[in-house]
Amino acid sequence: MHMNNCSAQRFTADPPQIRTGGYCRKCDQEHWLGPGNTVPHCRSLMHHLARRQTINLFSTGLEESVALETAPLFGPARGKMFGVMECLAPDGTTVIVHAFSGQYNGLWLVDGWAPPLFEVDEFLAMTVDTEKQIKQIGRQIDQCQPHSFDWLALRQERRHISRTLMGDIQSLYMLHNFRGEKATIHEAFFGTNGIPTGTGDCCAPKLLNFAAQRKLHPLGISEFFWGRENKSGGQRHTVFSSSCAEKCQPILGFMLCGLDTSGNNGKKGDNA
Ligand SMILES: [Zn+2]
Ligand SMILES: [Zn+2]
Repeated sequence: MHMNNCSAQRFTADPPQIRTGGYCRKCDQEHWLGPGNTVPHCRSLMHHLARRQTINLFSTGLEESVALETAPLFGPARGKMFGVMECLAPDGTTVIVHAFSGQYNGLWLVDGWAPPLFEVDEFLAMTVDTEKQIKQIGRQIDQCQPHSFDWLALRQERRHISRTLMGDIQSLYMLHNFRGEKATIHEAFFGTNGIPTGTGDCCAPKLLNFAAQRKLHPLGISEFFWGRENKSGGQRHTVFSSSCAEKCQPILGFMLCGLDTSGNNGKKGDNA
């Protein structure tokens, strides 16, 4: 096998055993979902991204088409996680759902992709003014003598406002599970080290929330990275990974609760 001879049509070898889940307090056990049949769907998405250079999944243009181009993922902004979920709908049909992590080029909502865990209007109403205020303080800081009293005081004020905003933003997220329950991140999060910024913004929480709210039964989830490797080098182009330990696993135990995951960990027929 010639590892240095990858053609554009060949992406990574079979993913290692990837899984999505975490510990559930209510059941005092872990809930996990395997990739099921999603890996080929991820490969199709990779081919689409490679060929079309856009996250627009449709053959027609979308309004924000320039913002949907993938070029920035290979520049200073670096790459991003993408996720695919396969579900069974109540009528027995199979549904494929796509998600990108966080915002895409400043957009929370893009047609064809799972939405975030909050109402975007509420998010914007909450953040617009405060972000202006934070920028304004930033400009004042730039005009101060570094390490002067005013400089230190303004920096402290900015940090306080940012932290308060972060807590307010986290309170907008509503997590749904397969018992028909919902919870805030604070209620659902299992851990003692505080809730990291961006918790709930990864692909798996978006996908599971989408399914739980629509009575879809997830059969599998896979996530892969697309673009220039991240700063730590921990995420590389086309490489699959399991749900992250710091942000996702502490909430996915709650989010997967109530879903019967036996027999859909990619080993079809085990329960026959
Ligand atoms: Zn994550
Ligand atoms: Zn549970």
